[in-house]
Amino acid sequence: MQHYHYIFTGSGLSALMTVYEMLVSGKFDDKSILLIDANAKKVNDRTWCFWDENNLFDEIVSKKWNQAVFANEKFNRVLELAPYQYNKINGLDFYELVFKKISEHKNIHFLNQKVVDFTELGNHCVVKTKEESFTCNKILNSIYTQDQRSNCMEHSRINPEVVISQTKFPLIQQHFIGWFIKSKEAVFSPNCATFMDFSVEQKGNTRFMYVLPTSSTEALLEYTLFSKDLLLKEEYELEIQKYIQNLGITEYEIIEKEQGNIPMTCYPFWKHNTKNIINIGSAGGWTKASTGYTFKNASKKSKALVQFLKSETDFTKFHKKDKFWFYDLLLLDILSSKNELGSKIFSSMFKKGSSTVIFKFLDEETSIWEDLQVIWKCPKILFIKALFGRIF
Ligand SMILES: Cc1cc2nc3c(=O)[nH]c(=O)nc-3n(C[C@H](O)[C@H](O)[C@H](O)COP(=O)(O)OP(=O)(O)OC[C@H]3O[C@@H](n4cnc5c(N)ncnc54)[C@H](O)[C@@H]3O)c2cc1C
Repeated sequence: MQHYHYIFTGSGLSALMTVYEMLVSGKFDDKSILLIDANAKKVNDRTWCFWDENNLFDEIVSKKWNQAVFANEKFNRVLELAPYQYNKINGLDFYELVFKKISEHKNIHFLNQKVVDFTELGNHCVVKTKEESFTCNKILNSIYTQDQRSNCMEHSRINPEVVISQTKFPLIQQHFIGWFIKSKEAVFSPNCATFMDFSVEQKGNTRFMYVLPTSSTEALLEYTLFSKDLLLKEEYELEIQKYIQNLGITEYEIIEKEQGNIPMTCYPFWKHNTKNIINIGSAGGWTKASTGYTFKNASKKSKALVQFLKSETDFTKFHKKDKFWFYDLLLLDILSSKNELGSKIFSSMFKKGSSTVIFKFLDEETSIWEDLQVIWKCPKILFIKALFGRIF
């Protein structure tokens, strides 16, 4: 059986970011690394957006916005994003960038196979694909899919069932369908994204439209919910059609579609890590629980993980629980019991608050004083009730 120092089961965002960081650090050139993924990562399967001031992966940012709109049925506010910019990266550009870097290193290999099992056996681990088996010192797992169900008895394996079946930490899903369209009419402002537009019917949920214009006639429009249950495909698409009509578009062509379902939860994913197996990405709780944003978090966490790997060997020590985890927990407690309140909560935050402080807060980089500036704008009674609910 071929042996590796590190095997990545799943080679999407978090795995590729971690490998990228390993390569950049230059400290892992003597380590053998195997990346395994059931998907060859050769298609543009998602669009990543994030706000940033440090030009993260700048060479592949395909569009930047300096302004973003926040709206509901009563108001419409244009947020000046400086010092941040809202950036868009096409999934395929990211995969190509990292795989090009990987191809320059002989110690890293990619295998396009489906992982069917992995386990820790004392001082080493075993990974099985449909075709082969490998041993390694460490596994970095980002597979978080239902079809790992049969393995869920193993402590280190995490799948959505494990999170769904517990009740201590609410699970909400950020689910959406997006259409990238080209319209006849020039209705979009290419310099201004629509971050959240809650003017769409809420229907007892937290529902909004997210619009990323790339020219006056082209945009990605995503009908998005933060809620427990998914909708039928037709329901998302009907709402996108309505929104397009309300923009005054009479003729358009759908260029591309995307869809997603991102877990939003404070579930302590790290408890499934063992000495030699770590869960990373959404499987490791790297998704920001209150927003579903993962790209920037994955960048921070992968840097921290690579730093950790240089000196530590026990993955159970790699986790942190801080005030932001608790803030997110309170918000999710509210949204899971009163899902219709999302528009009210996000609107109160964005109506007058400083967008710089809000984005810094969502990046988990604010001081207590800045936290209060954001929290003070939110409906206090709701959060105090949620706080009491958690304490008692
Ligand atoms: C359409 C879409 C748009 C998104 N947009 C944003 C955004 O704008 N901003 C943001 O911050 N976040 C966004 N996200 C959320 C998040 O950034 C992504 O989901 C991100 O890809 C999560 O990274 P990951 O490494 O956890 O999982 P993934 O990138 O999904 O990687 C997991 C990998 O495991 C592989 N795999 C699964 N099962 C097996 C198996 N049995 N064997 C082998 N391989 C397997 C998959 O093929 C996949 O490549 C979006 C998500 C989606 C789906």
